[in-house]
Amino acid sequence: MSAGQRGVAELRGVTLTIDGRTLLSEVDIAVRPGELVALIGPNGAGKSTALSVLAGDVTPDSGTVTIDDRPVARIRVQELGRLRSVLLQQKVVSFSYPVRDVVAMGRMPWASTAGDAGDDEAIVAEALARTDTTHLADRDVTTLSGGELARVSLARVLAQRCSIVLLDEPTDALDIGHQEQVLALAAGLAADGAAVLAVLHDLNLAAAYADRIVLLADGAVVADGSPRDVLTGERLSAVYGHPVETIDHPVTGALLVLPVRASGPGSPSKGGHSQRVRVP
Ligand code: ADP
Ligand code: MG
Repeated sequence: MSAGQRGVAELRGVTLTIDGRTLLSEVDIAVRPGELVALIGPNGAGKSTALSVLAGDVTPDSGTVTIDDRPVARIRVQELGRLRSVLLQQKVVSFSYPVRDVVAMGRMPWASTAGDAGDDEAIVAEALARTDTTHLADRDVTTLSGGELARVSLARVLAQRCSIVLLDEPTDALDIGHQEQVLALAAGLAADGAAVLAVLHDLNLAAAYADRIVLLADGAVVADGSPRDVLTGERLSAVYGHPVETIDHPVTGALLVLPVRASGPGSPSKGGHSQRVRVP
């Protein structure tokens, strides 16, 4: 592997069974430098489990989990913390710390390392700025709103400065403006050469920002490809158990994903769909 390839995280044929339930079945997922991969799928599909396995935090029953072709199980925790950062789905904090100190915890894997560490204070300040949380720096982290805490948690991940970034529902609890900001940030990390995997529920965010989409259902990969290849009305309707349509934005041509809804107060005409949208 060439030096430019640093930061490939890969699951191959991963199966995980807990208490007789198969949570992951022969799962292949790879994320490479320069790409933002969206991991999507219904509740309980196994997205968080797959992310934990990829992070090296959960060991599967079979299959391989590697970072740059090295089995993650053989990488020490401290080094793992310099290779990959993880934003967990449950963004909980149980102790009163100033936000700045929580973000600075992202620097811990770099403590007493020579060279790469950089200026911790400047890195923390930059992470706060990029997540729009500079004004919260002196606040007690336990007093934050859900959306503020989600952004501070992301700032800690950014401060870790890893070439592999794993984000579990990073836009959970965020308003529409901050959702766009966070996805633009994730896409920017990928553009700068990071390998970024983000679990997303909003299929329009996935369509707009992901280079590639992996669709998981019942612990198995159903589709893996470009947004247009993966996000078809037929496939999404089957996987999510609700009719879903895709249309092209009338002006920009961007792919849009919409649930099919019965007519209601918000629809232009009563009596159902007056005009069917095209399902490719
Ligand atoms: P997702 O993130 O896609 O919503 P998860 O990966 O969190 O799904 O969970 C997948 C399935 O595995 C769910 O049905 C969940 O209840 C189950 N599960 C997750 N962790 C465990 C565990 N430690 N023991 C038993 N079942 C679990
Ligand atoms: Mg989850």
